[in-house]
Amino acid sequence: MLNFTVGPVMCSDEVRAVGGEQVPYFRTPEFSEVMLENEKLILKYANAPEDSKAVFMTNSSTGSMEAVVMNCFTEADKVLVIDGGSFGHRFVELCGIHEIPHEIIKLNHGQKLTKERLYEYDGQAFTGILVNIDETSTGVLYDSEMIGEFCKKNGIFYVCDCVSSFLADPFDMAHCSADVMITGSQKVLACPPGVSIIVLTPRAVERVVNAKVKSMYFNLANALKNMERGQTPFTPAVGILRQINTRLKEIEKAGGADAEIARVAEQAADFRRKIKNLPFEFVSESPANGVTPVHPVNTDAYEIFTELKDHYHIWVCPNGGDMKNTIFRVGHIGCLNHDDNTTLINALKDMQNRGLL
Ligand SMILES: *Cc1c(COP(=O)(O)O)cnc(C)c1O
Repeated sequence: MLNFTVGPVMCSDEVRAVGGEQVPYFRTPEFSEVMLENEKLILKYANAPEDSKAVFMTNSSTGSMEAVVMNCFTEADKVLVIDGGSFGHRFVELCGIHEIPHEIIKLNHGQKLTKERLYEYDGQAFTGILVNIDETSTGVLYDSEMIGEFCKKNGIFYVCDCVSSFLADPFDMAHCSADVMITGSQKVLACPPGVSIIVLTPRAVERVVNAKVKSMYFNLANALKNMERGQTPFTPAVGILRQINTRLKEIEKAGGADAEIARVAEQAADFRRKIKNLPFEFVSESPANGVTPVHPVNTDAYEIFTELKDHYHIWVCPNGGDMKNTIFRVGHIGCLNHDDNTTLINALKDMQNRGLL
């Protein structure tokens, strides 16, 4: 199997080996130690400001997006949502479900957020921003520093969904003054899906601790209290948390966050060079490192996905909704190398020879 999707992605052999072990009981000092080490490395890689906390949620990252909306905002807020694709739209839906007053900056697919566009909302009493730093559906990377400046100027609580950009694109929580960062186990962390991580700065911790949340499972104050001793309120995905520990140490050994970001960036650059002479167009104005969305000029995108899967056993990532037939995505995250890119390009060339592109 050769998997170029954006999650789940290819795991290293070491991480896979941990997945084959028996899952231990978890209310132990040994497991607490694993959890606290996970927290320490995540905070380091996010460059979270001093006294920030991380909680490990057993849910996919949409669960964490929902938990953050529920724990950080109320009907007294006025939130700005950047909606440039399906993940931005998910935040819009979450605000609707939880009755959080909000306005939307709607961007076309592939369009970046400019300073001019953002500053149309300057001085208008917004209290929060929800943004997916890499809008994975279109591969657009938003400028976390530029948005951070806007938030600082307006006293806005700044929530960054970095689910696919954490460890793929440079992100400095302290420098861009983000209050919350969300990521998940099955993207650049290259582990099985099932765990999502929420990083909270001291300002976010204060907000969460004082929140009145109508939920037991998504009560982040309770998660924070348990995490003080390296534990979770309920049984977590123990096996995946142990795999995350292995993976974080693997990243540390290879040079830390910057080295992993550089590796993903090169994996993306190599692919973008190699695909140049094939009949595809790039669609993103400000491409993120983690994924390249491509638009086939002559062929249905979903048919290419199906043919690659069934004939070559190569998985690229189909798009959903109204992008299904026009765009597919090639991921650059997880355990992939430049030879794997060549294998994919050769398959596409073969399809071209067979008259399928
Ligand atoms: C993958 C992803 C998510 C979460 O998706 P789940 O299916 O809930 O894990 C959220 N936001 C972004 C930007 C993503 O790439």
